[in-house]
Amino acid sequence: MATVKTAYRFALAPSPAQEHALRSHAGAARLAWNWGLARCKERYAAERKWYSAADLHKLWNTAKKNDPDLAWWAENSKCAYQEAFRNLERALADFVKSKNGQRKGKKLGFPRRKKKGKARDSFRFGAGVMRCAGDTVTLPRLGTLRTCEDTGALASRVAGGTARVLSATVSRTAQRWFVSFTVEEDRHVPESHARPGTAIGVDLGVKTLLTGIDDQGKLITVQGPKPLRASLRRLRRASRACSRKQRGSNRRRKAAARLGRVHARVASVRADALHKATSGLAARYETVVVEDLNVTGMISNKKLARAVSDQGFGSVRRMLAYKTTRHGGTLLVADRWYPSSKTCSNCGSVKAKLTLKDRTFACDACGHVEDRDVNAARNLLSLAASGAERLNARGAAVRPGPAGRAAVKREPGTRQRRGKTGTAAPQGTAAA
Ligand SMILES: [Zn+2]
Repeated sequence: MATVKTAYRFALAPSPAQEHALRSHAGAARLAWNWGLARCKERYAAERKWYSAADLHKLWNTAKKNDPDLAWWAENSKCAYQEAFRNLERALADFVKSKNGQRKGKKLGFPRRKKKGKARDSFRFGAGVMRCAGDTVTLPRLGTLRTCEDTGALASRVAGGTARVLSATVSRTAQRWFVSFTVEEDRHVPESHARPGTAIGVDLGVKTLLTGIDDQGKLITVQGPKPLRASLRRLRRASRACSRKQRGSNRRRKAAARLGRVHARVASVRADALHKATSGLAARYETVVVEDLNVTGMISNKKLARAVSDQGFGSVRRMLAYKTTRHGGTLLVADRWYPSSKTCSNCGSVKAKLTLKDRTFACDACGHVEDRDVNAARNLLSLAASGAERLNARGAAVRPGPAGRAAVKREPGTRQRRGKTGTAAPQGTAAA
């Protein structure tokens, strides 16, 4: 049995009174964030340090008793404030890490105020009653809310004692409210994969969602749904309609809501396709090797931005990590500097330059010509062999050897066995 962290997300169907309460809680979270940020800034100006989430909560409890302006905020669950202070604490810590170069990706700025209507409506419960049954969920202060889908799968796991709800995050996307439960689950993880020895190298592409070459030389391609591009016309129309309306008008608000719904629809189509593709890979192959794409770096490249975010590279990685674990397999992630696209899969020589426009790989050394993505997948597959050897030899995650960087690393969270302590698996949606 292994313990994995997953998320269950349900769309809510609140009554008008509940909708009001949801908005109020989102407002509470925003107020707490802004209030806490102001206190931290004051203290930083005077003492060069800020408050922890616990300190802020204490200060808040005093302030709300003395300041009549804050009195009505007692209508909301105290969790909404507490969790907002925790978010702020994390954002400040991430800012410091980023500043000191201890955090991957784009430099983070100092946390900013959240504006009503601009910031995403969202709040979290970290304690209290968090239950689901049939097509309802029960949350602190909010009581029992209707859901659009059946919650039975999670409810029966909780009732059977194999799942524990750690927190519940409520958020609004377009005009719809969602609750996402973070759940710790005991799952039976097979000691070994049903198809031992199988491996596949997977290149995550721009044109094609996945290009894989397996150990039998079989080519597997999954065309991305490209839902954004396909419904681009609809999106463009909705966005034009929105900008034509006068700012602040009722019509503008309605058009913005329609635009939001188009976006939300596109995102769900994409998530669905990714779930199908990754479930298939995890079931069929014991070892899956992917490259470690610097997604934040790629997103900052404007040309690539739409194609990349459309395909959701980051989410593919997260899904593969927890799905391979569930099947008793392993996800290996190539070192981010490993030139999988520029290396010739035939002779191993590395090309100096290969632009994203070059869809075909042509080797200058041996004359080998192959589709760019297929060539990259072959190189990743070859890492599976070396990675597996190293894993067997050391019985632990691959670390950079004396020769320098290791070409592969094991994704944190994959393969947790009874008796082993490990970090929790990356979160993902359980609907698969
Ligand atoms: Zn070659």
